[in-house]
Amino acid sequence: MEVKILGAYGGRFKDLGTTCIQISEDTLIDAGNIMRALGEKCLSVNNILLTHAHLDHIVDIPFMIDYTFRYREQPLNIYGHRETIDAVKDYIMNWNIWPEFSSIRLINSGDYAVNYFELLPETSFHLNGFDIYVFPSNHTVPTLSYVVKREGRGFLFTGDTFRNPAVWELVNRDPEIRVLITEVSYPSYMHNLAEVSKHHTPKTLAEELEHLKRKDVDVYVMHLKPNSLKELEEEIRDTLPTVKILSDGDAIII
Ligand SMILES: [Zn+2]
Ligand SMILES: [Zn+2]
Repeated sequence: MEVKILGAYGGRFKDLGTTCIQISEDTLIDAGNIMRALGEKCLSVNNILLTHAHLDHIVDIPFMIDYTFRYREQPLNIYGHRETIDAVKDYIMNWNIWPEFSSIRLINSGDYAVNYFELLPETSFHLNGFDIYVFPSNHTVPTLSYVVKREGRGFLFTGDTFRNPAVWELVNRDPEIRVLITEVSYPSYMHNLAEVSKHHTPKTLAEELEHLKRKDVDVYVMHLKPNSLKELEEEIRDTLPTVKILSDGDAIII
């Protein structure tokens, strides 16, 4: 399995995009950086699995459906927690901020342009050859973490998160999880801001990593805030030397 990081950061800045992970040509987790990363290839995307409704994770949904609408023959399927779906429908795709594409039919077929699907926490489902399990993250709004596998190997993506024992229980007991992708947003001296916004600093992630009992798991971090990028990269290199920092355009082979 090849996992492409289309957007790796916790904010937009110049050439930096926000959270967006491509697990196959037609399926993404989060929608932070579809258009600049994929260009024309966004026409192939039919499924978006959302972790939560914060703007940095959904920002390209309106632009993507707007661009692809005239070409699409099948709907864009958006999956997420009930509260995530409600937030996208009620606050963004609501005819005020952007058209309500779930009530507009495609030109090239009779289908509605967008379908929404609710995912219940702690359930599994199959999607295009992937086995996917979702469970609750620990963030300020309802957020889903994803375990994605194909042919018995895969990764766990926490999405935005603070301390969460469920991550370590899952990774420790399931050897099929080869890769952990999690987040670090702020330098450790900003721990008050990190705690109130439920994000990790290098220090809190280091404390969490003490619960990881396996040595054969590659750990990656993303969601670094662009206004603290240099100092965060330095602190992560100094205090978490085995952890790899993801950038836009990176790929992970699992
Ligand atoms: Zn975020
Ligand atoms: Zn968030």
